[in-house]
Amino acid sequence: MRYVRYHHSGEDRWGVLVGEDVIQPLDNRPYMGGRPRGTPLPLNAVKLLAPCEPTKIVAIGKNYQAHINEMEYVGPPKPTLFLMPSTALLHPDSTLVLPPKSLTKQVDYEGELALVISKKAAHIKPEDISEYVLGFTCFNDVTARDLQIEDGQWTRAKGLDGFAPVGPLVTDEVDPNNLRIRTRLNGKIVQDANTRDMIMPVADLVAFISEYITLLPGDVVVTGTPSGVGPMKGGDKVEISIEGIGLLRTFIEEREEA
Ligand code: MG
Repeated sequence: MRYVRYHHSGEDRWGVLVGEDVIQPLDNRPYMGGRPRGTPLPLNAVKLLAPCEPTKIVAIGKNYQAHINEMEYVGPPKPTLFLMPSTALLHPDSTLVLPPKSLTKQVDYEGELALVISKKAAHIKPEDISEYVLGFTCFNDVTARDLQIEDGQWTRAKGLDGFAPVGPLVTDEVDPNNLRIRTRLNGKIVQDANTRDMIMPVADLVAFISEYITLLPGDVVVTGTPSGVGPMKGGDKVEISIEGIGLLRTFIEEREEA
């Protein structure tokens, strides 16, 4: 199934995408027993929303060797977990207004595969994860690179409002271990990799996280970026596309200094 969350007629709803351009509304969240109900809508009649309602976003750093190399991270390539606040979420096809230059001078894109949790997950086994995952989506792990380097940990660098664009849909119809993932900056390909190159594959990653942190329905897990990260500036358009999922587009604007 391919799930979307959308705004229509003053309401935020979940639905299922039928074909390429029709939404069948659901009467509840898909991970809370939502059933098809109501009249189907054309996709172009709605505003798509971030397809998740997380209590937390759990992400991983250093999950592709080529990215570890480009960042010159030292030490063993051990996955590093970090949390992002839900206030960082940004809907598909939205504008990210960059923080003023007095706060950060370099804001990078990081194209990543993400997944949405469907069931409370604590101490789960890798072979059981399909029971706990609603599906997969595209994510831009936007990073204030100067703050990340200055702080030595990543909360401030990755937690700003709008630093977590996600979508456009969540699908369980893909194999997360073999997906081409690409990022385009103003139409030019800047990241081009395959999820098979993850150091810790998706199932192991979710099981690993669940040993320490209980994941709840609607939570998001983000799986790390391949190489090719770089800065964004006002007027840019960033598109993250993952095979079998779709394309997440974000427009970048600069804010005037107060
Ligand atoms: Mg990242």
